[in-house]
Amino acid sequence: MGLLSEGSPLNWEETKRYADHVRKHGIIQFLNIYNKVKDRQKDVLKWGDEVEYMLLSFDHEHKKVQVLLQGEEILHELQNRGEKTNPNHPTLWRPEYGSYMIEGTPGQPYGGTMADFNTVEANMKLRRHEVFSLLKVNGTICTITAFPRLGCHQFTQPVYEPKPIESGASKSLFFPDEAINKHPRFSTLTRNIRHRRGEKIAINVPIYKDTNISSPFIEKFLNDDGEAARATKPDHIYMDAMGFGMGNCCLQVTFQACSISEARYLYDQLATICPIVPRKHSKYRISKSRYDSIDSYLSKCGEKYNDLELTIDDEIYKQLREGGIDHLLAQHIAHLFIRDPLTLYAERIHMDDANESDHFENIQSTNWQTMRFKPPPPNSEIGWRVEFRPMEVQLTDFENSAYVVFVVLLTRVILSYKLDFLLPLSKVDENLIVAQKRNAVCQGMFYFRKDIYKAGNPVVDGCACAQNGIDLDTEEYALMSIDTIINGKEGVFPGLIPIINSYLENMEVDVDTRCSILNYLKLIRKRASGELMTTACWLRKFVANHPDYKQDSVVTEKINYDLIMKCDQIAKGMHDCPKLIGQPVSKPKHSGGKHSTV
Ligand code: ADP
Ligand code: MG
Ligand code: MG
Repeated sequence: MGLLSEGSPLNWEETKRYADHVRKHGIIQFLNIYNKVKDRQKDVLKWGDEVEYMLLSFDHEHKKVQVLLQGEEILHELQNRGEKTNPNHPTLWRPEYGSYMIEGTPGQPYGGTMADFNTVEANMKLRRHEVFSLLKVNGTICTITAFPRLGCHQFTQPVYEPKPIESGASKSLFFPDEAINKHPRFSTLTRNIRHRRGEKIAINVPIYKDTNISSPFIEKFLNDDGEAARATKPDHIYMDAMGFGMGNCCLQVTFQACSISEARYLYDQLATICPIVPRKHSKYRISKSRYDSIDSYLSKCGEKYNDLELTIDDEIYKQLREGGIDHLLAQHIAHLFIRDPLTLYAERIHMDDANESDHFENIQSTNWQTMRFKPPPPNSEIGWRVEFRPMEVQLTDFENSAYVVFVVLLTRVILSYKLDFLLPLSKVDENLIVAQKRNAVCQGMFYFRKDIYKAGNPVVDGCACAQNGIDLDTEEYALMSIDTIINGKEGVFPGLIPIINSYLENMEVDVDTRCSILNYLKLIRKRASGELMTTACWLRKFVANHPDYKQDSVVTEKINYDLIMKCDQIAKGMHDCPKLIGQPVSKPKHSGGKHSTV
């Protein structure tokens, strides 16, 4: 989560009254930051991951597992033992939407040496250990994107029945308010979004139609005042609360660029990669809502590929242009600022726009897109950053490290070789739709740029652009499989991993780090080629092959228990899972050596 203040949250009616105030001052705050740091150069590479975790509780006697509503207490304890006693503590913990969730990051961002790639996994292991050591005997910490029985009867520990009452936060028939983080920000966000919409959230996800399921599948709801019956669709699973999206876990990576133009270039290039990394469940998406892919490129070379219709706030656009912001950045911000603020604190309405950025962050941090362009906070040492946000979390620290290291290495080759992945944004959106289909890794075909080396072209504003004046033609991109994009195909595409490998050949890396990186890239390679399963595929197979499964698309308590027990053992290294993870090469005992900076 971005902004998290203490104070008295306003209700929707009150917040709405200040919406224009927040937008106006948010822009002033942005302009103040921009004008102070627009010319900052030579910031070094820094980067860091964010992992969202779930706390779970086993009931071994009844063969059940439930989400454990202790996130707040555990967070408090983690912070007391960690950052509050030692500012150099190696982990940082933050609250997340679910009361059964928690977010962990490294204590400090990683720096720009190759050896940093070898510390990610150890840090993730430490985080898991810190939480695990605070849990009672039946508790565990799990990195799974979606809890399979989220919203089913008695899915929380302690058990709470949902109370779909008007005065509640979500009014959900399935997700009790007690499962929402107790920090008032989260219940206020939930209630204000519902009041702003004038109705509950309505998510309909197509049901997995197995052989033993009624057709059409139509859900019946207890305690429904009619709203659910109106909103549900046949052959879909209906969900009526933010918890079904924000209550899932993901993996994010943030990078600091050396300058604003490098940040804009990376933002655009990485946006095209978002559909390529596994993304099966996704936080819930309503077509082009606050939760979606990006809507406009920010770099000069992206301009000609901005083919989506962009709704912007004209007043704000004007305010930004008059403040000296160029067209592309102004339209990006004016687009984010079509949104209303969703929460506001009585104590934080009038502020010092030269030294604070709450109103800017308020709107910025409630646009939950695949990429985020992050300006430096006021008066800080931090530079211009971009955040890569489309990834699902993986079961093990090894896999999560692999995806993080892959993405960071990708940014290094993009910058070193001046790669150009840009496609019309409408094609990136088409890719995202394909990415969400079952088995997309093996079967999906994605638009990808054929010639990604733009060497020889003029480097404009820090990015290697396609030459101006070339007409957009379909020849620039082709449909490719994930295997081709990641691993390459003779005569078609060089492949992202072979490019990363050739970059690594020129770097000095100690044997141990090299071994870790090779194992990480091997995982990505084999997931892309289909030799290893994705987590989604592995989970589906586990359920489908469970002796209790009745081909009725239901994950029973017992199936869920066995599944999560298995996940827990895999995450703790008690159980190999070669079909999902492969066989990482073991490390040499003694190592050492020089390191290049990246
Ligand atoms: P968010 O607003 O996305 O929640 P966080 O403050 O949780 O952001 O941090 C996201 C990640 O950014 C963390 O992994 C952190 O280590 C990393 N980070 C912190 N400072 C920098 C920096 N100057 N450059 C790059 N990454 C940084
Ligand atoms: Mg965070
Ligand atoms: Mg983040």
